Amino acid sequence: MTTVGQTKLPSSRALLVQVVVDAPVPTVFDYLVPPDQQPSCGVRVRVPFGRGTRIGVVVGTEDAAAVARGRLKLLGEVLDRTALLDAAHLAFLQWAADYYHHPVGEVVCAALPVRLRRGEPPLALGVSAWELTAAGRAADPATLRRAPRQAALLVELQRRAGPVTRPELEAAAGPAGAALRALRGRSWIQACELAAPPPQAVGTGPALTAEQAAAVSAVSNGFGQFGAFLLEGVTGSGKTEVYLRLAVAALARGQGVLVLVPEISLTPQLVRRFAARLGPGVAVLHSGLSEGERERAWQRARLGLARVVIGTRSAVLAPVADLGLMLVDEEHDGSFKQQDGFRYSARDLALVRAQRALGGAGCPVVLGSATPSLESLRNAQEGRYRLLRLSQRAGAARLPRLDLLDVRAQPLEAGLSPVLLRELAATLESGQQALVFLNRRGFAPVLSCYDCGWLSDCPRCDARQTWHAAAGLLWCHHCGAQRRVPAVCPDCGGVELHPLGQGTERLEQVLRVRFPAVPLLRVDRDATRRKGQLEQLLEQAREGRPALLVGTQMLAKGHHFPGVTLVGVLDVDGGLFGADFRAAERMTQLVVQVAGRAGRGEAPGRVLIQTRFPEHP
Ligand code: ADP
Ligand code: ZN
Ligand code: ZN
Repeated sequence: MTTVGQTKLPSSRALLVQVVVDAPVPTVFDYLVPPDQQPSCGVRVRVPFGRGTRIGVVVGTEDAAAVARGRLKLLGEVLDRTALLDAAHLAFLQWAADYYHHPVGEVVCAALPVRLRRGEPPLALGVSAWELTAAGRAADPATLRRAPRQAALLVELQRRAGPVTRPELEAAAGPAGAALRALRGRSWIQACELAAPPPQAVGTGPALTAEQAAAVSAVSNGFGQFGAFLLEGVTGSGKTEVYLRLAVAALARGQGVLVLVPEISLTPQLVRRFAARLGPGVAVLHSGLSEGERERAWQRARLGLARVVIGTRSAVLAPVADLGLMLVDEEHDGSFKQQDGFRYSARDLALVRAQRALGGAGCPVVLGSATPSLESLRNAQEGRYRLLRLSQRAGAARLPRLDLLDVRAQPLEAGLSPVLLRELAATLESGQQALVFLNRRGFAPVLSCYDCGWLSDCPRCDARQTWHAAAGLLWCHHCGAQRRVPAVCPDCGGVELHPLGQGTERLEQVLRVRFPAVPLLRVDRDATRRKGQLEQLLEQAREGRPALLVGTQMLAKGHHFPGVTLVGVLDVDGGLFGADFRAAERMTQLVVQVAGRAGRGEAPGRVLIQTRFPEHP
């Protein structure tokens, strides 16, 4: 017989457990359970494996008396008293392992914070209450005749059938310190945190537009069952406001909310808005946290102490108590795909999770974007997703005007056409902000020798190495290979080495000379390496004083710059003809997103897109 969940096993018999082991093997392994152990599904174990030991998670338990199987190894150590992952979540992870053809133990263990994955004991969250373990629930107080205080506590805990705070216990059973320690020593009780009081909406937000209200009611009418929604809202249309209302509604039903966002750099703004509206009880999961911070956030989500979990890609694997709503912001974003190791699409897994939520009843999942992926648009067209549209900007802001600048036969200065330079000057002179978007960092994408035609090919792969002038490096953005910039041509020894094309570094240099009077803020991965640097740049931009913003796709997404009224887009053409079948789709999305930064305040915005192919669809 196989049991799932936290069922207590009869300890009188030899038992088998099925364990998924954190190792690159596809199978589930059987181990014998030592007579004094009672592992349940979802606890971590240390097991002998090959010549050493490995961490694993119990996914099934079985009465060994019924089956005789060859020579089985004895389980090593049981690392948890109670399950870290419940049966439904284990089943979801096993499904994902199967679907993506990845070793099941690695998938299950990838769902654990790194310390737990290494087998370390969980960090304390801070004791605020005590609860019975499975053994404690079954224990007979009569066996504690010689320890009346322990017996009284046990009776009280069994009567209350849930976590009880120490003051409450002491009110019922007298001073409890030593007796609690003794009961814990018997593994009959464990410390736990009391569930947070139901979060309360602390702010209300603006009155919704008709389209926002329709979106909110369409989704909230579907609470408690599976439903997929595509929220296609132009930039600045108030998608985030829709998410907030839905989260408040889910919380009011006592359910948890999982919000997936593409990038860590977008999280601060979104988190701030969620926290401002929902108060504490918002947990954040992303790779920029320390191991400890991440684990505590994970535990709070699992235990229902945090009801709203906001995280990047891997948060889709995290347990969230009573998950009742899934939100995927910028669903088209490529970063939802894990590209190595366990390869998965967090956006797609979000749908599967929503289908399996609430014990199989399912929950709504909302995919939001101004530029939905083609596959999501198709799903909406075919009726698999319900399409919800926000066609107008919220508040006073209007959508910017888009114009193509045909730059064929135009003299370009570092990729900038005379028209664009003139418009930039006019915008800055009138005290507004302008943004120049070039999705390529570094000084120039290629370094070349005038004498022999040598190009800075990557020695390791088929790409070219980008010249990073400030760092003095040739750097392959494809495979990461780096080398010092050669002083002379490696092939012919010539000294005429020149950059071809431009990156943001070069653009910055040229624009600084052109517009010495305004501050220039460059936002790309090189300029924001130090912690806090990006936030500082964004803060400065949001202040709204005249400034010229130069950046890559880091600038394109999610940010709100009320002072920006002109956006110049350079070099879209490379994206139109890339080898990647998604290149054109991705470039279109980027252009729409970056255009969406313009005119988000009172002043109307304008977007100029330079191209040599103005007739391209
Ligand atoms: P999106 O997420 O679609 O880009 P946001 O939710 O960030 O849009 O909204 C853009 C701006 O409009 C924000 O400043 C937001 O506070 C404001 N906003 C959103 N909804 C409304 C509304 N119904 N009335 C007035 N302002 C709104
Ligand atoms: Zn040469
Ligand atoms: Zn390379």
